[in-house]
Amino acid sequence: MLALEPHTGMLETPHRDLQDRALGAYLGLALGDALGATTEFMTPREIQLRYGVHREICGGGWLRLARGKVTDDTEMTLALGRSVLRMDGVVAADIAEAFSDWMRSKPVDIGNTVRRGIVHYRHTGELEVAPDEFNAGNGACMRCLPIALLHCHGQDADLLQSSRAQAHITHNNAVADAATETVLRMVVCALHGETPSVIREQADRLVKRYPQFNFTGRRVENPSGWIVETLQAVFQSLFEKQTFEDTLVEVVNRGGDADTTGAIAGMLAGAVYGIDAIPSRWLKALDRNVDVACRKQTLALLDLACRHSGRDR
Ligand code: MN
Ligand code: MN
Repeated sequence: MLALEPHTGMLETPHRDLQDRALGAYLGLALGDALGATTEFMTPREIQLRYGVHREICGGGWLRLARGKVTDDTEMTLALGRSVLRMDGVVAADIAEAFSDWMRSKPVDIGNTVRRGIVHYRHTGELEVAPDEFNAGNGACMRCLPIALLHCHGQDADLLQSSRAQAHITHNNAVADAATETVLRMVVCALHGETPSVIREQADRLVKRYPQFNFTGRRVENPSGWIVETLQAVFQSLFEKQTFEDTLVEVVNRGGDADTTGAIAGMLAGAVYGIDAIPSRWLKALDRNVDVACRKQTLALLDLACRHSGRDR
């Protein structure tokens, strides 16, 4: 029986704001995944013909999901978070085991690069795949949120080290690393209440270093699993829209890898706008077990972050 009240363990201000944003980020990730799974691999035209504007958590899609269910994006994030909590920090060997256990559980879907990385780990015990300059998939970025929560009071260098440790188990690519690190820094900025313009500076810095991420040009439709297209669609939606709901509706109606653009946009928009900005009809539709797991992990990871930085919660 799941009995976690939404407000169990809630804090008073000033930490309350950060906690609300962190809960928004984790639930936003799961909701973006659930919402986008319906339109994954569809074109915007197909979505429009079928749904008009897709804006309800209704399941379906190519995975034929039940309403409120999530996919690998949320499941791998939860697996990473469980490992971090179990080990009191980032231990690549345990994360690799957690990913392997997750793959053994016959997940509803799994990316090719993720599968290859986990199989490589099983065969060799190695905690890093070989660098691959041609494969900048979005699979390490989609699951990165626990790293942002763990290091939200910490040093940037530790954030980067943890990010690479978890990413390289399946993805080892400089462009994908830089993208994931940018998303992590954006989440941390948002958790601390920074304005969208400050958060945007992080995205602009990424574009300066890797101009292929430029997101100010044409509207990206059918974004692929390539991290560049994924983040272009996410950044366009995040910076053009002014609410949590509008941001997610915008990104998943572009089709393509919509569950993953939804997940990444959801974690960013959730961190920016906080849990109170999430439509209650979406929260009600989300799978109960996922809802509880996201909330519990958020609070536990924030606790761990405080202990690591030596501050009172
Ligand atoms: Mn997925
Ligand atoms: Mn996907």
